[in-house]
Amino acid sequence: MCDVRVTRCPRCLAEDISADAHPSRRLVDGAAVPFLVCRNCFRAAELEFRIASDRVGLPYEQRPIRESLRLLVDFYTARRAESPDDPRIAIALDDVERRLAIAPVEPT
Ligand SMILES: [Zn+2]
Repeated sequence: MCDVRVTRCPRCLAEDISADAHPSRRLVDGAAVPFLVCRNCFRAAELEFRIASDRVGLPYEQRPIRESLRLLVDFYTARRAESPDDPRIAIALDDVERRLAIAPVEPT
């Protein structure tokens, strides 16, 4: 029997995002912070972030792909530490590490 922990999407509080997270952002005290949500919530979360940015006069910028992938690596690495027996997390982590390895390097 394996001990699998469920990490709920913080937006809909329904979907398990342990092995399928999508990195959006939200504004906290005027600063953009990472906000990992489920596939269903991703577009809405980005839209909410864009509207919130607009309201406080912050320019909305796409996050560089490598930054998103690094967030996912950190997230899945933490989930794997919690549920080392969950094969879905290992697969998700492998996949995002592969994408990070081939993602174009953007100017910093
Ligand atoms: Zn959700």
